Amino acid sequence: MTEIQKKTLSVVKVGGAVLEDVSSLAVFLDRFVALPGLKILVHGGGRVATKLSEQLNIVSKMVEGRRITDANTLDVVTMVYGGLINKKTVAALQARGCNAGGFTGGDMNLISADKRPVKDIDYGFAGDVNSVNQEAFALLLNNGITPVIAPLTHDGKGQLLNTNADTIASEIAGVLSNLFSVSLVFCFEKPGVLSDANDENSVIPELTLTSYQSYKEKAIIHSGMIPKLDNSFDALRKGVKQVIITSASTLDIHSGTRISL
Ligand code: ADP
Repeated sequence: MTEIQKKTLSVVKVGGAVLEDVSSLAVFLDRFVALPGLKILVHGGGRVATKLSEQLNIVSKMVEGRRITDANTLDVVTMVYGGLINKKTVAALQARGCNAGGFTGGDMNLISADKRPVKDIDYGFAGDVNSVNQEAFALLLNNGITPVIAPLTHDGKGQLLNTNADTIASEIAGVLSNLFSVSLVFCFEKPGVLSDANDENSVIPELTLTSYQSYKEKAIIHSGMIPKLDNSFDALRKGVKQVIITSASTLDIHSGTRISL
């Protein structure tokens, strides 16, 4: 398909604090439905899962910022991501006139994954994406459905797997670049990637691979931002037109941090 014929598609990931706060979530969803063109929403929910685990007396084990998904934790994240957050988001989008459908990676075989092999660390039921079903996504999108994707995948043998939402968004965006002109937008509670963590006015407008390396070496960019940026560069290499990291309350391509190779 030539570039000119491709419809535009925004793959938007929302995470962190935004999902926990009713009013910021409402503002975000208003902005999301107003985006032109086709859309997919990918949500996280780690903090909500941690809270429910505490209430159920299940200890959330984290290693280097990553959750260890034991069998009990997998049950919790299945309930929280695949149920609570996904279905509430779908209902909120329906209320805004957006015909959303909520899915995990198992539904329609949208996203399959392999259980992460045990090396130094056993992550438990954590999945590394191996394929995104572009035909199934196209079927939904071309029939007026806005997919809302929970960060759960399946291994094709009946096992659900907990999978990083940033990675899911990046993999979907990369594969669907074959069919659509894709923008990938990561939304969180800050206005973009900051050069000073304490100053919201220090948004870095454009980040290249070279400047990323240097911010990383100076530890200005760290923790959860590193996999987000690694996923952003991966998506660009796979043909995604633009990647933006921005605030969930503005959600437009003219603010935040633009990532380029
Ligand atoms: P989410 O779950 O909201 O998508 P993550 O927690 O995975 O996000 O990653 C975002 C976090 O990255 C921010 O909340 C912040 O603590 C951290 N971070 C690290 N370096 C930076 C930076 N330079 N600018 C902004 N955030 C940064």
